[in-house]
Amino acid sequence: MQSIKRKSLLYKSEVEYADFCLNHVEGCSHGCKYPCYAYMMKRRCGIVKTYEEWRQPKIVSNALELLDKEIPKYKNKIKYVHLCFSTDPFMYKQEQICNLSLKIIDKLNANNIRCTVLTKGVFPRELGSRNGNSNKNEYGITLVSLSEKFRKEFEPDSAKFKDRINALKYLHEKGFKTWVSMEPYPTPNLIKQDLMEILEAVSFVDKIIFGRLNYNVKSSEFKYSKGFYNDLALSVIDFCKRNKIGYHIKQGTQI
Ligand code: SF4
Repeated sequence: MQSIKRKSLLYKSEVEYADFCLNHVEGCSHGCKYPCYAYMMKRRCGIVKTYEEWRQPKIVSNALELLDKEIPKYKNKIKYVHLCFSTDPFMYKQEQICNLSLKIIDKLNANNIRCTVLTKGVFPRELGSRNGNSNKNEYGITLVSLSEKFRKEFEPDSAKFKDRINALKYLHEKGFKTWVSMEPYPTPNLIKQDLMEILEAVSFVDKIIFGRLNYNVKSSEFKYSKGFYNDLALSVIDFCKRNKIGYHIKQGTQI
């Protein structure tokens, strides 16, 4: 795997529900075609030139050294650190990246900093047996469908939905807080599916985040997205209230 060096790692995120964040990889082999917002931003800044280049991840080789320098500097300001907004920490079948992610989580936890971790890959089972402050970590998966046909088209090299859910359930059973990011949820002209089936499949989680699909040409051709997303957001809220699950509807989803 190619590698790069960075000058800094930890930063305060502008994302609506986030605190500090880090991205210890450039690019992502999952190759999402919603499109991937991180890819669009990196291409706009000239950091990545093509989608093919984006799908060849480069690991940040000095990530752990940077953390050693930056943790003392930010420790008093950090509530938690999110992995990741512009890559995937447990990229499917990318062992080197997964191993570095585990080391980063351990290092943050050893400094009494909890982590929130989001993936379209499979959480390693060893996360469930780590001790110390790691039991305050929160683990989430992105899940916008249960259809493997849809996944292969829109998230070609991500983990199977079933495997993602099973790995998350395992961490839930180990006592960790878990959540599901149902974003970007596709419009019916991309896939006709039953939202309730997806919600039922993850009804064990502590929180559900629901958000609309943006920037997709075909999705924007769907004329009834306002009513569609308003109705679905109400269904998510109702489901979460009935099942005592926390929820967050992303800005711009309900109009
Ligand atoms: S998993 Fe996330 S970072 Fe990776 S390609 Fe998909 S949307 Fe982009």
